[in-house]
Amino acid sequence: MTMSFPTSSPAAPFAVLATAFTASDPETLHLLEKYLICVDQNGIISAVIPPADPRYAEQKSAYQQNNALIELGDDQYLMPGMIDVHVHAPQWPQMGKALDLPLYAWLQDNTFPLEARFSDTDFARRVYAPMVDALLANGTTTAMYFASAHNAASLALAEICATKGQRALVGRIAMDNPEQCPPFYRDSSAHQAVDDTAQFIRDVQTLVTPQSNLVLPVITPRFIPSCTDDLLTGLGELAGQTGCHVQTHCSESDWAHEYVKNRFGIHDAQALHKFGLLTRQTIMAHCNFLSDDDMDTLRATGAGIAHCPLSNFYFANSVFPLRHGLQQPLHIGLATDIAGGHSPSMFDSCRHLLTAACALNDGVNPQLSAKERGRPGAKADFIHAFWLATGGGGEALNLPIGQLAPGFAFDALLIDCQSPDSNVIIWPEFDDHRDVLQKIIYNATRCNVSRVWVQGRVVTER
Ligand SMILES: [Zn+2]
Repeated sequence: MTMSFPTSSPAAPFAVLATAFTASDPETLHLLEKYLICVDQNGIISAVIPPADPRYAEQKSAYQQNNALIELGDDQYLMPGMIDVHVHAPQWPQMGKALDLPLYAWLQDNTFPLEARFSDTDFARRVYAPMVDALLANGTTTAMYFASAHNAASLALAEICATKGQRALVGRIAMDNPEQCPPFYRDSSAHQAVDDTAQFIRDVQTLVTPQSNLVLPVITPRFIPSCTDDLLTGLGELAGQTGCHVQTHCSESDWAHEYVKNRFGIHDAQALHKFGLLTRQTIMAHCNFLSDDDMDTLRATGAGIAHCPLSNFYFANSVFPLRHGLQQPLHIGLATDIAGGHSPSMFDSCRHLLTAACALNDGVNPQLSAKERGRPGAKADFIHAFWLATGGGGEALNLPIGQLAPGFAFDALLIDCQSPDSNVIIWPEFDDHRDVLQKIIYNATRCNVSRVWVQGRVVTER
């Protein structure tokens, strides 16, 4: 059963008359040519009406008479908002830096000192406010955030997302292992980290700020190496008691994967399952080194994966076998993994997904023969990328978002292919609507995102 979120009353009902794209699974793209997409007063899609439907003309004129019809132009298209299922919010100032380092050094020498600065909540607000603006402008209507190990700064992030109208799942990071976390940035004990996480959940659930219904708390053990057994046990119990979302990293790099094997004698996924941390509301970032048994465990629990194709190239020593995961089938969303990835654009993440799938399929070492070089069957196409960035993210989060269909929240992007400086080049004599989406996935940038709605509200417009 899909989780629901509380609704408020943002606006009067309206409809958008648009040619729209939406996917209902990794292989199925729907082209909605000149459809009427009707949105109710709670920001939920109430009907999607094709031109051939007998209600079409009457509904269109009713919305027109109420001054509640938005009609898109010929070079404008509607699509679901992008869902970024793995973002490290406090790493925003670090984006595009030090990506030549191995993961361990990147964390210890760059990331932990930066994240420690978020004990200063004013500093946190200075980072988070422009970050949320930038992600919305890039078309990210939902983000699942790792914040830092500070309650006040993490709550500030939740408040900023709600106020600016971005749907967000926000986690206060828990990390207490003195062997892996520096003294200047770690929880003082497992007990304190569990208590602070429980307090953070209550604070987010009782936020008094406009649109607070858009924000959900997340239980967030950083990754197994950062956490003691007591902390993992306590957070697993909290997940069982609250039913909240859970997020962590799973089998990301050779180093992290080997660390967990040495400590527990099993893989990350099995260890997280033993601690009660794999639920239908769990998202695990990376998952590159999952065995088939691990995939079975994910499928049985319903836990989801955040595919981070760009940061995998930098830090994970491998490429996540996306097509194999989709065939299980597992719940998989797409992520920028800021700042392990250097781009805030989910359109870029789509491109990185496609490149990563090619690299895995064909292999990259020219000294190997063609037969030994790759992993055939790993290739992906633009529809897989579009699904992961929209409906796949919604499915992984177990929320009714990511599709233009009745019952889903109206989180949507108006894509303008004729915007100034557009790299999306459409040739009407050669390109049908499917080609247009393909070109949007391969070439759209922030300049093409001309309007963004979340739960029926316009949150960004250019
Ligand atoms: Zn991460």
